[in-house]
Amino acid sequence: MGTAGGIIAVLLVVVSLGAFLLWSTGHLGDAGDFVRRVWPWHGSAEQLVVTPRLEEFFLQTALSESAWRKVEPRVIKWAPGDVGVIEDGPKSARSSRLLRQELRTFSQLAGATDFVLRDSAGDIIVTYLPHKEYVRLHGSAGPGGTYDFKNVDRAGRITDVRLYVDSSFANRRQVLVHLLAHAVGLVGQPRGSQFSASILSSAQRSSRSDLSPLDRQAIRLLYDPRLKMGTTREQFRAQCVAPVSSKASR
Ligand SMILES: [Zn+2]
Repeated sequence: MGTAGGIIAVLLVVVSLGAFLLWSTGHLGDAGDFVRRVWPWHGSAEQLVVTPRLEEFFLQTALSESAWRKVEPRVIKWAPGDVGVIEDGPKSARSSRLLRQELRTFSQLAGATDFVLRDSAGDIIVTYLPHKEYVRLHGSAGPGGTYDFKNVDRAGRITDVRLYVDSSFANRRQVLVHLLAHAVGLVGQPRGSQFSASILSSAQRSSRSDLSPLDRQAIRLLYDPRLKMGTTREQFRAQCVAPVSSKASR
């Protein structure tokens, strides 16, 4: 358990299906003018190219059919502004430093949404559990961590997520980054060897502890303000490949 290169097996994906079922039809929003598959990034000169590979990765993670099970997958994310993150259980200066550092990376990728480590009042609660306790609560199918979406509102806004970390897992950073990637809205697990570099991949050889380039692009795409909460797979596909002046031509 916890060997280098080991995978993180996330045991429970307890998405708030009840909340999702209540959703009304999502709004498409104003798509604006997109260069084909190229999105300017938050008004900066930097552009995000939505390649077919990124599109497929996004469909498997943010809009994962298996993670959503009985309801139609929709884009869910945190609203712009501060999202409080707190540590629960045996924390230390070291664990806080690591978490704060990773939150900074996610904040940089998430545009106007900032993930901030706090002492209380967390929207994301990271609970460190001793191994025995972790297994008692979450089973022994795999080491690492588990996430639980406590609440997603009707619009697709994530408001409450719990992350549970097995303290005995050797690569704490790998667990944290994996769980945080889920917590920001990449709910699914990518399949196939083409995505094995992803921190979310279940492929054995994924031994990384940081976000892969594709993971980073997916988070940027997810938090692009033009990609509205509630966007469906169909709408996402249409929006991503829409040529310039799509309103006139389609
Ligand atoms: Zn996972």
